[in-house]
Amino acid sequence: MTRRIFVTTALPYANGPLHIGHIMEYIQADIWVRFQRMQGHELHFICADDAHGAPIMLKAQAEGVTPQQLVASIAADRPRYLAGFHLSFDHWYSTDSPENTQLSQDIYRRLKSAGFIDHRTVEQFYDPVKGMFLPDRYIKGECPNCHARDQYADACEVCSIVNTPTELIDPYSTLTGAKPVLKSSEHLFFRLSDRRCFEFLEGWLGAPGRLQPQVTNKAGEWLAGKGEQTLGDWDISRDAPYFGIPIPDAPGKYFYVWLDAPIGYLASLKNYFELGKARAHGERRSFEEFLSAADTEQIHFIGKDIIYFHTLFWPAMLKFAGAPYKVPDHVWVHGFITVSGAKMGKRLGNAISPLRYLEIGMNAEWLRYYIAAKLNASVEDLDFNPEDFIARVNSDLIGKYVNIASRAAAFITRYFDGALRYADDLADLTAAARTAGAAAREGYETREFGRVMRECMSFADSINQYFDGERPWVLARDPAEAAHLQAVCSRALYGFKVLSVLLAPVLPQLAERVAREFFGLERAFLWADAGVPPERINAYQHLMTRVEGKQLDALFDDGKTGNATAPAPAGKPAPGAAAVGGTPVSAADALAPGTISIEEFRKIDLRVARIVEAETVAGADKLLKLTLDLGSERRTVFAGIKSAYDPATLKGRLTVMVANLAARKMKFGVSEGMVLAAGGEGPGLYLLTPDSGAAPGMKIT
Ligand SMILES: [Zn+2]
Repeated sequence: MTRRIFVTTALPYANGPLHIGHIMEYIQADIWVRFQRMQGHELHFICADDAHGAPIMLKAQAEGVTPQQLVASIAADRPRYLAGFHLSFDHWYSTDSPENTQLSQDIYRRLKSAGFIDHRTVEQFYDPVKGMFLPDRYIKGECPNCHARDQYADACEVCSIVNTPTELIDPYSTLTGAKPVLKSSEHLFFRLSDRRCFEFLEGWLGAPGRLQPQVTNKAGEWLAGKGEQTLGDWDISRDAPYFGIPIPDAPGKYFYVWLDAPIGYLASLKNYFELGKARAHGERRSFEEFLSAADTEQIHFIGKDIIYFHTLFWPAMLKFAGAPYKVPDHVWVHGFITVSGAKMGKRLGNAISPLRYLEIGMNAEWLRYYIAAKLNASVEDLDFNPEDFIARVNSDLIGKYVNIASRAAAFITRYFDGALRYADDLADLTAAARTAGAAAREGYETREFGRVMRECMSFADSINQYFDGERPWVLARDPAEAAHLQAVCSRALYGFKVLSVLLAPVLPQLAERVAREFFGLERAFLWADAGVPPERINAYQHLMTRVEGKQLDALFDDGKTGNATAPAPAGKPAPGAAAVGGTPVSAADALAPGTISIEEFRKIDLRVARIVEAETVAGADKLLKLTLDLGSERRTVFAGIKSAYDPATLKGRLTVMVANLAARKMKFGVSEGMVLAAGGEGPGLYLLTPDSGAAPGMKIT
């Protein structure tokens, strides 16, 4: 029976590049999806950028672009990662879309009419300078417990105590430095405490095989709660200004990003259907018909940090919104990725940048194999250990698997013109192939990928032992043993074919080359190909290079500047958690993404300049026209600093300018350079000034 499966990975937050935790999750899901496709099932593998929320709104403001422009620039970078790691998503969309607006508002209206939406007044810190309510992550202050300064409320870095923002001493807004004031506002809540949610979730969580046992237990603890208190209601609204989806009957209020993010799974699927892409995958039904069908499987792959959202809110929202929405069939949770046993992070200098990995020429399938070899169905963290990585790639993948082909093919090509012949009964080998195939199938289905890789390698061991035991290099010297030699090599190559089929979900590109170029098939492998002994081969072409220690060194040289930071694809990381995107560099430069060489830095001619004139520009809201004295010449520069400076106060002041920036024609005239100013996520711009004694024209080095 053909299964119809809709698979998602967690939506990455669109304020930064993908990190290794995202790639690990995508590889896990991709292996599972490719395995199912090889079984002939109908798969729809969907993801999207998670585009809404305060962090994106504020980051876009700081960069002087619209949130849509920021999200588009992040999205434009995604294909490099997806193609680079052979991730076979069928569709990648955005939560900032008409489909998501429509579905989110629809689900909200349904929940409201079913009595699941409450209005309550909430008192919250408000930044009077910025004019917005402050999410907790934008409030810092002194820890009331240990008196460490500059601590976030959620967890003091020094004493680890969890405070609320109102408990902090001398709290301040990290956006403006202003003292926040308590202000009340009406918020909308999803009534997760409703008895109906409890009863539904108890059954949903308890369904056998729905979730991993650890996940059922964890969600069960939340559900059981403490004493009388069970699940808390969920605040689903945010006040303007907010980048999000408007709440239909509440002017000035938007859905909290965590409400519309999971609905983004469905919005991406809907767009995929509307573009006719589902039809191209053999699905004839409409989006609504597909979604509500009893035989459609809805499966989410996520990290362990977002279990709460995906096993409580999300199924409850879908359940009480009603058809065509249906509750997820499974939520499969993985752990974080660690490096040599340590939690990954920039500060530890052990972050792995996925782009760096590709740019220095490391093979994506090494990483896919390594991750597969270490993954199981539990929620345990996966440790990336460089020595272990080298051993598994070189000893197992190449030494055991790839080498079978290179060794046996040499004899077949040289003595038998590529023809395979099996002299004796093949029953034992086909039986072994069937056993290995059944074990692999069970292992892939249950996401016990490590077990599948172990079984494949043990099958490879048995082939290599057989091959070595027959001593083909001795047989080759005796013409009377020709038929025997051909049979020995043919058996080994059949074993290689079986392994190539079983490893195809993990090594899609290599397996397809083996299928087409080596075995002469006109397509990629299907699972059933493992049962068919090959009859011919083409001459062996080099399939995979060994990994070298210096490549791992180069990968980790990136540690201090890499763009991999967060432990797992968390969705909406704290501000500053994701570094700025990398600048592409060639492998030869061996520079980390986002890094420049000293030579590149020296290309920038920074000079001290005196502002001799500063004027407003008619019709320009943000610009001041500056006349700068560089000692030897004068320049005109249009600078976007009007919001921060009265032109009269700038006259005579020294500042720093980029003197060799190409002149730029602007609406109001030609700008011949740029002045430097500091700015953060909040408002406020601070023009740079050299220390006293500096003179116009001095070079900054
Ligand atoms: Zn503290």
